[in-house]
Amino acid sequence: MKICTTIAEARAVCRQIRADHRCLGLVPTMGALHAGHLSLVRAAKARCEAVVVSIFVNPTQFGPKEDFAKYPRPFESDCAALEKEGADMIFAPAADEIYAKGETTWVTVEGLSEKLDGGSRPGHFRGVMTVVAKLFHVIEPEVAFFGQKDAAQLAVIRRMVRDLDFPVEIASCPIVREADGLAMSSRNAYLSAEERRRALALNRSLQEVEKAFRGGERNARALAQSGRAVLAREPEVRLDYFEIVDPETLGPVERVTGKTLVAVAAYVGPTRLIDNVVLLESGE
Ligand code: AMP
Repeated sequence: MKICTTIAEARAVCRQIRADHRCLGLVPTMGALHAGHLSLVRAAKARCEAVVVSIFVNPTQFGPKEDFAKYPRPFESDCAALEKEGADMIFAPAADEIYAKGETTWVTVEGLSEKLDGGSRPGHFRGVMTVVAKLFHVIEPEVAFFGQKDAAQLAVIRRMVRDLDFPVEIASCPIVREADGLAMSSRNAYLSAEERRRALALNRSLQEVEKAFRGGERNARALAQSGRAVLAREPEVRLDYFEIVDPETLGPVERVTGKTLVAVAAYVGPTRLIDNVVLLESGE
């Protein structure tokens, strides 16, 4: 497994892979890898002959008061985990390799970048889209793998790829959860035992909505209310948003008719967590 820290090295390795006619898959991450990330690597291995994993804690997607400085960076153990999964290359640039030129060019996806997490974290998706566009240019993957865990991010990436004609297929992978239902996240490491217990309210709120949906409720406001009520019972969990939206436009829906995204974000202590579920009419 090669570890590349410069764009020039990474380009050379990827060009060789393509010259050998091997299908190249990319899994972009911020490191601190858990089973959720590794599921993306496995999906990439199953689909592509060569797999590149990027590890980059992208400064431009963090707000000034967010956790960029304290974000976990266990690089050695990440490398060991990726070696075990059979990744071919890790691209782990320093911030000044990616942002060296005092750039003033950004990618924003108007109409989507401000929704859900983009609403609570101004500039977040501008940072994400800019770095993902850069990674696509450096690695030039045929397929890029992203987790359904970040459902809004997935919608914004799909739109960017469509609008800017990136020659890459976007593959989404299901949310990997702990045995008790908590969605795996690198930020779960911040939680105390008490917070860890409280964090289960996110998944519980989504399950409540699913239950109401299966019971026949189709009114989005009523469904959202049933989920919010679960979170309101955990006073230490501060709701950021609880929304029922179209998974492509991220716009609100009044009634659940087709594929619909139920997304939640909440602070458990100082830690912001997200989770979601997709509702499907049976037969879809
Ligand atoms: P991150 O390192 O948090 O930027 O995540 C890198 C990729 O892993 C993103 O595409 C995430 O959606 C995905 N991911 C993170 N957590 C999970 C999870 N629990 N299940 C599936 N994919 C995940």
